[in-house]
Amino acid sequence: MNNSLTMLTVPAFQDNYLWIIHNGKHAVVVDPGDATPILHALAQHKLILSAILLTHHHADHIGGVPELLASNTELPPIPVYGPANDNIPAITHPLHEGNIVHLPEPGINLSVIEVPGHTLGHIAYFAPEEHWLFCGDTLFAGGCGRIFEGTPAQMLSSLDKLVGLPDDTLVFCAHEYTMGNLRFAETVEPDNQQLAQRIAVERAKRDRGQPTVPTQIGLEKQTNPFLRIREPSVIAGLLKHQKIDASADDATNFYALREWKNNFA
Ligand SMILES: [Zn+2]
Repeated sequence: MNNSLTMLTVPAFQDNYLWIIHNGKHAVVVDPGDATPILHALAQHKLILSAILLTHHHADHIGGVPELLASNTELPPIPVYGPANDNIPAITHPLHEGNIVHLPEPGINLSVIEVPGHTLGHIAYFAPEEHWLFCGDTLFAGGCGRIFEGTPAQMLSSLDKLVGLPDDTLVFCAHEYTMGNLRFAETVEPDNQQLAQRIAVERAKRDRGQPTVPTQIGLEKQTNPFLRIREPSVIAGLLKHQKIDASADDATNFYALREWKNNFA
C-alpha cells in the first residue's frame, strides 16, 4: 500500500512490548496492555490513533483499551479489532481465520491467522506486503507461549502455521523473553551452531540495552526448539534429559518440551 510505515517499540510493565505502526500522521496500536506509554508515544510523535488490534484476552494485552477509547473525543470512535473466539467486550470488529483487516490509515492490510493454544481464541496478524507478523504470546524469540487454554496439538499446529510464513517475516512478539528462552534452547540442542551464534548476537543487544524483538521466522526455524520438535537433535535432547522414554508423536514430544521449559530454572 505504501512504504512509509514506521514501527515504534513501546516497552511496558516488566518485559512487554506494545507496537505502534504509523505513517507520520495516523497510527494503529497492537495489544495495548497499558494506555499510559501509548498515549505518551502518540503525543510525542503527534499521531492520531486510528485503530486498535488485539491478539488475545489477557490483561497485559488489552488493559489499556478503555483509556485509549476514552481519550478519543472525535468521531467516529476508534475501531477495536480482535479475536471472535476470545471474550473481549471492547471488540467492535470480531475476526476469524482468513479475514483481512484493511486500514487505509495508516495504510496497511493484515490477514488473520487463528493460533489457538495460549488462549483458545488467540489470533495473529500478518501483513503480506511488509512481511510483518504480530503474534502476541504464541511465538516468542527462541520460544513459545505457555499453553493455558488449548491442547499441545493445537499449539503445535498454530506454530506450524507461523512457520509457513516467509523466512524474512519480522516477528513482533509481545515479550522480551529471549535470553531465558535461548538458555533453555541451548540445553535442548547443545550442538546447534546457529543457536550458539545467535546467543552471542542477542546477548550483545541486551548488553547495549536494545530489544531482541523483532526476530525473523527464518532464524526461529534454525534456533527455536519449539519450531524444531521434529528435528532428531531436539528429540535426542528430550531423550537424554529423560523427558520422554522413547520418541513419540509430535504433539507428545511438543508437550514434553513445553513442560520441561515450564520447570526450567
Ligand atoms: Zn497472554
